[in-house]
Amino acid sequence: MPAENPYFDVVDRLKIKEQRYVLASSLSARPGTRPSEQRGEKVSAQKLEALIWGLSHDNPVVRWQYLQLLDTHPDQRAVPAILGLLDDPVPRVRWHALHAVECDVCKGGESLLEDPILAKIRELAGQDENKRVRAYARRIADSQGPEA
Ligand SMILES: [Zn+2]
Repeated sequence: MPAENPYFDVVDRLKIKEQRYVLASSLSARPGTRPSEQRGEKVSAQKLEALIWGLSHDNPVVRWQYLQLLDTHPDQRAVPAILGLLDDPVPRVRWHALHAVECDVCKGGESLLEDPILAKIRELAGQDENKRVRAYARRIADSQGPEA
């Protein structure tokens, strides 16, 4: 990891439950502000780089914390890494990855859904081993109209 990014130091510490809320806030666009009050706001390039790196953390709880941060602070540059988590071994991480691409409420109206992503979501709707993940993927697919 590039040592010059001060936020990388914070990324791993999100595994410490007691510090999670404060640390996640420090990685948001406006630290100290509720996620609901900064929906869709962009984070700095350094923070974005840190959030993307957090998606590959060993701890699944940490992975979905970063998915939530990227849900509130959407950026096209994070999409490939988010899509990778649609194949995560942990169902809850896959669920949050679906949320991070689909939810436009948290993003202030900026859904990241595009056709190739939708194809993957339809696949999950039919084949994911987890009932909740399948149901969520189905709901997203249905909301986009019938398959072309
Ligand atoms: Zn959301």
